[in-house]
Amino acid sequence: MKAPRFAYRRPESLDEVLQLLAEHGEEARILAGGQSLMPTLNMRLSRPRLLIDINRIDELRGISFEDGTVRIGALARHAEVMDSPVVAEHLPMIAEAMPHVAHVAIRNRGTFGGSIALADPAAELPACAVALGAEFVLASARGRRTVAARSFFNGLYETERADDELLVETRIPAIESGYRSSFMELARRHGDFALAGVCCHAKVDGGVLSDVRLAYFGSEDRPRFADAASAAAEGKAWSDDVKEAVKTALGDDLDPIGNFHASAATRLHLARVLTGRAIDRMVAAG
Ligand SMILES: Cc1cc2nc3c(=O)[nH]c(=O)nc-3n(C[C@H](O)[C@H](O)[C@H](O)COP(=O)(O)OP(=O)(O)OC[C@H]3O[C@@H](n4cnc5c(N)ncnc54)[C@H](O)[C@@H]3O)c2cc1C
Repeated sequence: MKAPRFAYRRPESLDEVLQLLAEHGEEARILAGGQSLMPTLNMRLSRPRLLIDINRIDELRGISFEDGTVRIGALARHAEVMDSPVVAEHLPMIAEAMPHVAHVAIRNRGTFGGSIALADPAAELPACAVALGAEFVLASARGRRTVAARSFFNGLYETERADDELLVETRIPAIESGYRSSFMELARRHGDFALAGVCCHAKVDGGVLSDVRLAYFGSEDRPRFADAASAAAEGKAWSDDVKEAVKTALGDDLDPIGNFHASAATRLHLARVLTGRAIDRMVAAG
């Protein structure tokens, strides 16, 4: 099928993008890497009147580190994030997750901001952002605001972003001394969206875990921070008993959605198994 008719604009400045968004609101869509947007147009799942191509806006590019925070511009391609020494040094969870995001051709065009704005519940990067305490910077003709990742995702492809707002950048606290991260997912084929996945982040001191942060993707309609499971590991020396307690507590956090790929019970089981393995690996790493 071919996409429905749409108007196309390729602004040269951020102000121009924001002005177009202010004028056209929900009738417009931002075109970043196009890896998700173009298929939805071609399948006629979406019929925007206007595409606003942001690929000429240089201030949306780049990855940098300053004052303990990594800034990832909305237009940073997945491939750039994957190859970034800044990400490798300061965000090991994201570095570990990147090879699981789609395939090489899609990573060459797809953008970090596009993945966050799209809010696919099976995507890796939104869950990493939730686990790591990221913040998203949104700009509109009305001004700028920052939204914490944990309050950004509202449901299936639904976020706090208003129709006239552009995601400009993501700010993620760099990993601190004594902390470790671990990422694991299960997909039918490498590069497919995951059936279940976990992002773990914690301080590990002689096998004792603290500031434990567990976030999940591929289970529900949005990435989920697991309060009960994280609390079950807090301040504990990692052991088989604690592992079982964390897995049990996860049942209070997750209410997975079953579909033809996997039932709800299977997804919860997979999330539990992945959690045990991911924390095993995190603790053993030091
Ligand atoms: C076959 C296939 C497999 C894939 N597998 C995976 C996978 O395993 N894991 C995974 O995470 N992703 C996967 N993806 C998605 C891929 O990562 C996309 O690149 C990404 O989700 C969207 O990025 P994009 O830059 O292409 O966004 P686009 O397609 O350009 O845009 C996606 C949506 O976000 C909006 N948008 C984009 N940027 C902004 C912004 N800065 N501000 C506001 N709104 C914005 C657009 O308007 C659109 O609604 C897959 C895609 C395909 C086609």
